[in-house]
Amino acid sequence: MSGPLLRVAVPVPLFQHFDYSLPSELPMPAPGTRVRVPFGPRRLIGVVLGLSTAAPGPRTRALIEILDERPALDQELLALGDWAARYYHEPIGQVLATMLPPADAKPVPAATWLRLVGDPGERLAALPARATAQRELVQALADGPLPRRGLAGPALRRLEQLGVVETCEPPPAELVRDAALALNPEQARAVAAIAAHRSFAVELLHGVTGSGKTEVYLQVLAERVAAGQQALVLVPEIALTPQTLARFRARFGTGVAAYHSGLSAGDRVRIRDAAGNGDLSVLIGTRSALFLPMPKLSLIVVDEEHDASLKQQDGFRYHGRDLAIVRARQRDCPVLLGSATPSLESLHNARSGRYGYRRLAARVNDRPLPRIQLVDLRRQALRDGLSEQLIEACGRHLAAGNQVLLFINRRGFAPVLLCHGCGWIAPCARCDARMTVHKTGGSLRCHHCGAQRPLPTECPSCHEGALIHVGEGTQRVEQAVRAAFPEARVERVDSDRLRRRGALEALLEDTRRGRIDVLVGTQILAKGHDFGRLTLVGMLNVDQALYGSDFRALERMGQLAAQVAGRAGRGDQPGEVLLQTHAADHPMLRRLAETGYDGLCESLLPEREGAGLPPFGHLALLRAESDLPAMPYRFLDQASAALDGTVVEALGPAPAPMERLAGRTRAQLLLRADRRADLQRALSGWVPALAELPAARRVRWSIDVDPADLF
Ligand code: ADP
Ligand code: ZN
Ligand code: ZN
Repeated sequence: MSGPLLRVAVPVPLFQHFDYSLPSELPMPAPGTRVRVPFGPRRLIGVVLGLSTAAPGPRTRALIEILDERPALDQELLALGDWAARYYHEPIGQVLATMLPPADAKPVPAATWLRLVGDPGERLAALPARATAQRELVQALADGPLPRRGLAGPALRRLEQLGVVETCEPPPAELVRDAALALNPEQARAVAAIAAHRSFAVELLHGVTGSGKTEVYLQVLAERVAAGQQALVLVPEIALTPQTLARFRARFGTGVAAYHSGLSAGDRVRIRDAAGNGDLSVLIGTRSALFLPMPKLSLIVVDEEHDASLKQQDGFRYHGRDLAIVRARQRDCPVLLGSATPSLESLHNARSGRYGYRRLAARVNDRPLPRIQLVDLRRQALRDGLSEQLIEACGRHLAAGNQVLLFINRRGFAPVLLCHGCGWIAPCARCDARMTVHKTGGSLRCHHCGAQRPLPTECPSCHEGALIHVGEGTQRVEQAVRAAFPEARVERVDSDRLRRRGALEALLEDTRRGRIDVLVGTQILAKGHDFGRLTLVGMLNVDQALYGSDFRALERMGQLAAQVAGRAGRGDQPGEVLLQTHAADHPMLRRLAETGYDGLCESLLPEREGAGLPPFGHLALLRAESDLPAMPYRFLDQASAALDGTVVEALGPAPAPMERLAGRTRAQLLLRADRRADLQRALSGWVPALAELPAARRVRWSIDVDPADLF
């Protein structure tokens, strides 16, 4: 063996790095450089951490290839990865692998643009009614050119053949530049406070929907961009719409890019390079955008900071908001958390003085926020889940020419298929779950493992009872609304309907243009969308949150209700929000109705404090699953015993809320401590040793620090 020995982080589930010798013909790679290394019989891409102090042994292997001229991860990102690996107790190799650019991808040039040739109306008239994808495209292009990427494939090719669509130059960004708005006093105070920070600080911007938070972001960003600096804006997956991007582009021109997992590898590499060269001034992205190099980073904004989608739910389970704060601290720059419904964690941090707190209490136009009214469902006749009161309200708002949003957090037609003769219920064979009835295609589907089978025509148990559909999903509500209001234009919005790329955008565009009267949809509709004439919101099925096993369920429900309510009455009409429930006396629901989300938090915080739950206590969840039903419990018992002697409280092992999923048995052990440092200290010795437990080889296990969901 010749040459120095390098410490390399390799993407394997082991809590260590590995030493490789550097062949003498290769240059010395800087820390953060990607290298190809042999690992057992495989070749893997690892990241150089530095020089090893160990001496080469007889089994030391040489690295194969250096993959970067300039390190893929700069010092700042390496430090962030190192912090995250320690805090989330995730092997460093796997953390860094998450942060790397896609392997073997070349940057692709920026998008080509497309425009419509001729008059939109005539073009539409010439297309067959069945060609919905083509029609949606023509409608989308009616307002002006769009980037080619993201538009539907076959429909687009057809339109190009027909000469309806042609490529064009990108529209000059300078021409569409929006001017900054004159701020109201609350906004001005928020902007001034944030702009004053030159070093690390966290500010929570708590502003009701429509209070002008985005305008605050834009003006704080503008100040940094004008000074030649860079800023990062994190948004939840669902809020990263072309509208959001357009709003930032209109203010900042071409120095803005969006980054998310839906981009092609080549696009991601291009944007990463632009961010790393300092060519981009504003990067808007989902949580993975946190891992892009930004040498001139001077501000991070986390929009909708309460949103659960900021937390990665598998593999390296980091929270985008929390890592954003860590990155800002390392960088010594401010971070701004914005939400209409802040998480209890952030509210608590603001109250205890760790974060600054800025309130935007009023909507920009001073229109009152709609109050949430409870509709007591007990002993009421329901029509496919709709109460008389809600139907009456729909009729009233539709007659006034307004739009209605009906929110139901369940897709499909009915969540249960029941035999009236013998009580048989269609189960999923592989999960502790019932199959959902889907009308489209006449099938039963499991929403947990994806199993699907044809809708039975007779009861498989007694062969004679009538099969009835119990409960409501979006399809059933859609059908009921169509029956009740035959003249209304009704559309359903759920993940079944939105398989096609761009479908949500097309629907929202139709809604904005007033081509849709009633939208029936899931929480896809709750965030980041503006509907011109929406004045009534109905929420159909929220009671699960009251009885769910998750301690965050009520907080989430309150956030959802407030966010959905915030969609109503944004135009020149006041809004109305009806929340149907069988638990109209529930103290937390009444609190929500009487005092809104803020008041609900006042009740939830003491409850959390009493139970020692976040933000007052700190949690980690060890999950285990196996084909062998007893094994997860055996493993978790062993893990629990290994915790003895620490101050951490171990609750369980207990079955996961859905114990059997896709044929596997799942259980969990919840760890709790009053102080974060105690929890961290206990985890740091314990987690790496879990792999050595006797049962560890028989289960799949994972650790989740600060779990967002307890399943
Ligand atoms: P939020 O992000 O809090 O929901 P937005 O920033 O989207 O609120 O603002 C809601 C609407 O009010 C937008 O149409 C925005 O252009 C407008 N707006 C925001 N601030 C002002 C202001 N100072 N003057 C006039 N209009 C404003
Ligand atoms: Zn039966
Ligand atoms: Zn299933």
